[in-house]
Amino acid sequence: MRNTKITCTIGPSIESSEMLEKMIRGGMNVARLNMCHATHEWTREIFQRIRTASETVGIPCAIMMDTQGPSIRTGDLPVPMELKPGDIFEFTVKGAQSEEEKSVDVNYPNLIKDIHEGDTVLVDNGVIRLRVLEKLHRRMRCEVLTQGELGSRRHINLPGIKISMPSITEKDRQDIALGIALGVDIIALSFVRERKDIEELREILRAGHSDATIVAKIEDQQAVVNLFDLIDAADGIMVARGDLGIECPYEELPIIQRRTVKACIRKGRPVIVATHMLESMIENPMPTRAEVTDVANAVFEQADSVMLSGETTVGKYPLECLEVLDRIAQRIERSGGANYAEDVELIEERQKIVRSAVVMANELKAKGLLVFTRYGHMARYTSWLRPNHSRIFAFTNNERIRNQLTLHWGVMPQLIQFSEDPEETVLRAEQVLMERGFLSKGDQVVIVSDILAHDKVINAVQMRIVE
Ligand code: PEP
Repeated sequence: MRNTKITCTIGPSIESSEMLEKMIRGGMNVARLNMCHATHEWTREIFQRIRTASETVGIPCAIMMDTQGPSIRTGDLPVPMELKPGDIFEFTVKGAQSEEEKSVDVNYPNLIKDIHEGDTVLVDNGVIRLRVLEKLHRRMRCEVLTQGELGSRRHINLPGIKISMPSITEKDRQDIALGIALGVDIIALSFVRERKDIEELREILRAGHSDATIVAKIEDQQAVVNLFDLIDAADGIMVARGDLGIECPYEELPIIQRRTVKACIRKGRPVIVATHMLESMIENPMPTRAEVTDVANAVFEQADSVMLSGETTVGKYPLECLEVLDRIAQRIERSGGANYAEDVELIEERQKIVRSAVVMANELKAKGLLVFTRYGHMARYTSWLRPNHSRIFAFTNNERIRNQLTLHWGVMPQLIQFSEDPEETVLRAEQVLMERGFLSKGDQVVIVSDILAHDKVINAVQMRIVE
């Protein structure tokens, strides 16, 4: 009974069928496949395993494919290289020869064109910091500012620099094609910079007849500048704090997170707060006090989901991480939330109908809001308005919609066959909820529906007592 959803990245720690079943039972709502580290063979195998595990335990779990995006990386080194402050270091492109003792080739041919003297280069998640001294033909001289060991294929961040690499790379296209063929529920697009990146992915999905939704990952300064446009264009947003914390000054991070969550809730887009939520639990069975407070903050802001990365891919305590998130979320939800949904601006008639249902449920302290929905709209609107007390039980006859709704705050989605007689559908749904212990006779519920009966759309809001 938790409103905040949990997204877990799949990796060696939880990829066995047995662990996946335990994770879904333990509260994993969305499984994330990070394509930075995934082969196609692995992706096919794991996709099927997640679907089977979800069916075995009888609990839905969405599958989200997360693209690598335009990642700039250093090339191979025969042995790791020790860098010290004051060292001169050269980055080369297209295999240019350096005369310096310390240098490495980079996979991005336009690096020298895009960068300027005085700019900062961050390597390996910001561990090694360098300043550009001079641009030369196919190489650039830098001064090392912080000590570190440079290994092979390390990630490079160029804070504030507009790079000319396409947002959707050739590797991403191949991965997305696989995602479409498998039928992933959600695609998370890395390093989104502007609206047209999302439109490009939407076109790829349309051409592939895919109904996957798009989550735009906010992870650099350009995305922050275009935030409202991206929220408008995408189906959901991820605050990807890992790269964001390198690309932007870290003291800006809490402000960006709050602004993003607030804007998403006002616009009615699901939002995931990601990365380093329980980082210390990769090695330890207990979270730090700071981590507890960080998770509590995301729950208080009423983000749709919190996300685990290393904690569930290589961590020693993935099940304990779920328990920690579950305990914090349940406790903080009981204590109230930021209520950013209070001043949302509703445009469509159906949104206003849903608002009247949520107001009624709040007034009555109804046990549940039962939403009958074909395309998921009514369920998404109900979640968007963040009801104060009532659980949102969403019933749909579409498996993809059922899976996608698992990401949304407070929604417990279930499959149902819609009857020609709406009354019969409602009674069937109440029966299911009573059998599963979510409702009892005498409970007050509010019904929201846009189902078809005899080819007519029935938009309805009702209060009922479960019999
Ligand atoms: C992040 O940077 O926080 C993130 C989620 O992206 P990735 O894990 O793909 O780097």
